[in-house]
Amino acid sequence: MEPEIQTVPLLDLASGDRLTLQVYRFVGQSPGRKVYIQANLHGAELAGNAVIHHLIQGLQTLEAGALQGEIWLVPLCNPLAVNQRSHHFSSGRYNPYDGRDWNRIFWDYETQVPPEVIQQFAQAHQSAAIADIQTAYRHRIQTQFQQDRKAAEQQGGAPIHHRYRNRLQCLALDADTLIDLHSSTNQGLVYVYYSGDRHSGAAQFGLDLALQLDQYDGDAFDEAFIKPWLALEAAFETLGRSLRFAVDAYTLELGSGMALDPEAIAQGVQGIHAYLQHSRVLSDGWLTPATRPTRFYTSSDIQRYYAPTGGLVRSRLQRGDRVTQGQPLYQLLCLAKHTPALPHCVDVHALQDGLVFDVGINHAVNEGEYVLALLPSQPTGPQP
Ligand SMILES: [Zn+2]
Repeated sequence: MEPEIQTVPLLDLASGDRLTLQVYRFVGQSPGRKVYIQANLHGAELAGNAVIHHLIQGLQTLEAGALQGEIWLVPLCNPLAVNQRSHHFSSGRYNPYDGRDWNRIFWDYETQVPPEVIQQFAQAHQSAAIADIQTAYRHRIQTQFQQDRKAAEQQGGAPIHHRYRNRLQCLALDADTLIDLHSSTNQGLVYVYYSGDRHSGAAQFGLDLALQLDQYDGDAFDEAFIKPWLALEAAFETLGRSLRFAVDAYTLELGSGMALDPEAIAQGVQGIHAYLQHSRVLSDGWLTPATRPTRFYTSSDIQRYYAPTGGLVRSRLQRGDRVTQGQPLYQLLCLAKHTPALPHCVDVHALQDGLVFDVGINHAVNEGEYVLALLPSQPTGPQP
């Protein structure tokens, strides 16, 4: 099958140029889930674009009968961030215009309406069929989104981060599954983030690690999408009805920033391919399934180490290394100039047994700057 290719206007620039998004849309013969996959929301996180390229190539080898529903693929979804540079470095995590993290700006229905609105919706639909509830709630979300968008336009125009988020979320708000492809800004492992109780969905990617987002720190693309649905499930729970909507959202972290790591890309493609088959979006595939058990953690398990003083990082462990409590993690070479002392080294030791899952890209650190992060050696998250 071949994708429909749509070019969507994004933002007009002072230079007279126009930024656009390219949407590759595969449509199956029979209706089903809409799976929305985007890459490169943060400017330095490139690997997802290569994953999307492989997915396009793989899907092209399948017949339309093998796809139930639709798959939308949006590479390079944040051109402003992708093109941002500081010397050789891609620094596009924050919008230089207003300082905002590009992945903490998204519209979230749950925070746009008073809390009682979702509870009242649940009460009004207490005995309705789950499919009807899902359709009605989706309609609510879409209507509120369009209302808020219009209201902002009538009040002197919306700022850049609102225009950007609105145009991106327009493509994804009616999806059933949303997959946002990121990587570390530094050098990281491959894993999947998920929210709420979507453990079994996260396990379907077959990646080594899954991290449940248990500390909310802003409106990330996946969280803004899934939170209203989790809130509705919680509202029904208070009414004594336990239900799970067939709506889910994930962020895949694919290795290192500013790099196309072939192993991370292969795991990303393999993971999404496995997810699409497990969730019955694809009845056929182009890869041989690789089965890996997933270890579950929560995001608050991440123990980040920050430099105790300024210096140059050396003898550092690498991502994927295992460490025991008390073992050296790294050494700081300190060339302090505030006292007449010789250069000296400071050793930093692990506070717990763990797995090095992310390391800073810059070996020069000021006091308090990030050096590396550990996960506990034993999984701590809820097991599906
Ligand atoms: Zn990111």
